[in-house]
Amino acid sequence: MDYFNFKGNELFAEDLKVTELAKQFGTPLYVYSKATLTRHMHAFEDSLNGKKHLVCFAVKACSNLAVINVMAKLGAGFDIVSEGELRRVIAAGGDPKKVVYSGVGKSESEIEFALSQGINCLNIESEEEIDTVIKVAKKLNVVAPVALRVNPGVDAKTHPYISTGLKNNKFGVSEEIAFELYQKMAKESCLKISGIDCHIGSQMTSGMPIIEATDKIIALYNKLLAVGIKVDHIDMGGGLGVTYDNETPPTPSEYCAPILERLKDLDVAIYIEPGRAMVANACVLLAKVQYQKDNGDKHFVITDTGMNDMIRPALYGSWMTILNAVKHEDGETVLCDVVGPICESDDFLGKDRKLNVKNGDILAVRGAGAYGSSMSSTYNTRRLPCEIMVDGDKSYVIKKRQTYEDIWKDECILG
Ligand SMILES: *Cc1c(COP(=O)(O)O)cnc(C)c1O
Repeated sequence: MDYFNFKGNELFAEDLKVTELAKQFGTPLYVYSKATLTRHMHAFEDSLNGKKHLVCFAVKACSNLAVINVMAKLGAGFDIVSEGELRRVIAAGGDPKKVVYSGVGKSESEIEFALSQGINCLNIESEEEIDTVIKVAKKLNVVAPVALRVNPGVDAKTHPYISTGLKNNKFGVSEEIAFELYQKMAKESCLKISGIDCHIGSQMTSGMPIIEATDKIIALYNKLLAVGIKVDHIDMGGGLGVTYDNETPPTPSEYCAPILERLKDLDVAIYIEPGRAMVANACVLLAKVQYQKDNGDKHFVITDTGMNDMIRPALYGSWMTILNAVKHEDGETVLCDVVGPICESDDFLGKDRKLNVKNGDILAVRGAGAYGSSMSSTYNTRRLPCEIMVDGDKSYVIKKRQTYEDIWKDECILG
């Protein structure tokens, strides 16, 4: 459920017409809905009610300070994957004590920064990382709260680039190795064994893989308990999918219910790390139709946004819904490829779409909030888009459109 709906022939973001927003702020334009973000956060919170829990928004899905700030005010924790993301959380008013830090390649200085800020938990992904954490904790004279990221060998049945829980992925360690490493960590007084962590993939549209993973994590929990190692939390990661086209993913409560059911009698807090499900449908990307042309059998609709602003179709072959923000009563619907201005053949937003468009129309790419802006680039020396957040009948700029000088301000000419 989101707050981007048609009233009559016009698409609205909450109480505002998106064509008016495009006129006021220009295109390309990312438009977020605060009510949608809030609704999603509440859905996750409510679905874990009755048990101690922490909903950690995965910052990499959408790292704008305003989005982080809204989430922080709703009580969210954060899942981060770099020092930069931790600095963003702090800059946006988030609480480091609610931050979990994931990622296979944390550098020593990143670990040092994270521990100095008193984060909630480091999700360690290898034996060598344990050694680095020990070294840093001793240097800072702190006790580092840690979990191991376990790779339970569960197939998330999603795109290979976003599947992370298989044995041949770079993420985490196997349950067998985890059992050994927990015992090694338990001997270190500068480590506090805080949790067990996993994250098996993204855009999961079935609840089965996470149930399978939960059972495997519980088995490890019990095995650790038997050797006197007691963790305080179990982190089941993110990965809940959203509807981009006709997928029917579970709702947050359908997704969390079996996790809650399985963990309810264990003396642990439940952590989850939703990214996509929190923000994807809380945002549309607006683009203006510039030209149309026919090449061979294809009709092309050429917009002013492309793979630099929204790389998901090019990177993962993702299908994203594209709507005309105004429904025309005249004209005709044609089969077309919606493309951008970038000089790459995979610079498309959608292929074989049925649209009734006129030049100058505003198109809305739905589900643009996750891995949209956060993956954008200035490729082809195009400015990063303006981003706004709508709250009822008010709109706020949350990222100014770059200037051209912004793009090359850190570059220098010889001599
Ligand atoms: C990316 C990521 C998430 C968020 O995944 P979504 O599919 O966006 O929910 C959560 N945890 C970790 C460790 C991640 O890398």
